[in-house]
Amino acid sequence: MTDTRSYALICKLSEANLLKLLTVDKTRGWRPKLIHIRLADGSSYQCYAPEDLYHIAFLKNMILRPSCYACHFKLSHSQADLTIGDFWGVADTFPDMNDNKGISLVLPRTAAGWRIWKALSPRLEVRTVDAEHALIRNSTARRSVKIPDRRERFFKEAFRDGALDLDVLEKLEAEPSPPPGTPSALPAWGPPPPAEPGLPVLYPSKEECCGCEACRAACPKGAIAMEPDGETFLYPRIDAALCVNCRKCQRVCPIGGKREKAQ
Ligand code: SF4
Ligand code: SF4
Repeated sequence: MTDTRSYALICKLSEANLLKLLTVDKTRGWRPKLIHIRLADGSSYQCYAPEDLYHIAFLKNMILRPSCYACHFKLSHSQADLTIGDFWGVADTFPDMNDNKGISLVLPRTAAGWRIWKALSPRLEVRTVDAEHALIRNSTARRSVKIPDRRERFFKEAFRDGALDLDVLEKLEAEPSPPPGTPSALPAWGPPPPAEPGLPVLYPSKEECCGCEACRAACPKGAIAMEPDGETFLYPRIDAALCVNCRKCQRVCPIGGKREKAQ
């Protein structure tokens, strides 16, 4: 049976005083892929990533937060000057650069982005590649990932009574796939808990918050705390007793700012 201890440990992180979590430990390179978790009580967990249920669930896009399925930062509508990511497929394009240390794909997208890139690139080992070619194996730079058909069931069945049973993943995987063309049911994410009257609304639906914590960091009164939802993702909550309604949190939100410009 697959070892599920990493999940159990991750569930206890808030209580257990996490020292270090390397979801994939790359201190010795990309290969071998290791999950590495160290806790303050001295315990640690290491597992070959392809055998770790957390990693498997992640690669199957099962445990991404709602905003990842409706990402506001894809190339067609990102406002970034530079886009940087892992260069998947580098082994086919530049095999001599595939050295186990990881290669980044950098896409300067604005005049400011090109200026930054020109200043940085003389210090780096750089190859130029046609963007269309580079994006063939990096399609998620353009499109959000599809919501897995069984994601909603996975969360309902894997989290019960505060315990986590990730063997549910294997059970769901063993079920026959729905026939091609079957529309995938969208999870009932719905709106966030209603904000108290007069307080800023930070996100109108769960897909609209990527959990970046910019609002929490910007709040001059320390009125925002990040709290887990039913899927254990963190979302901001405003303490009405501390909030002075300055709206700095709304102005700094990378998604809220775009939403206001679009309106
Ligand atoms: S409105 Fe101002 S005080 Fe209130 S939560 Fe936002 S940043 Fe903090
Ligand atoms: S700034 Fe706050 S509300 Fe906006 S995406 Fe980040 S965590 Fe969510």
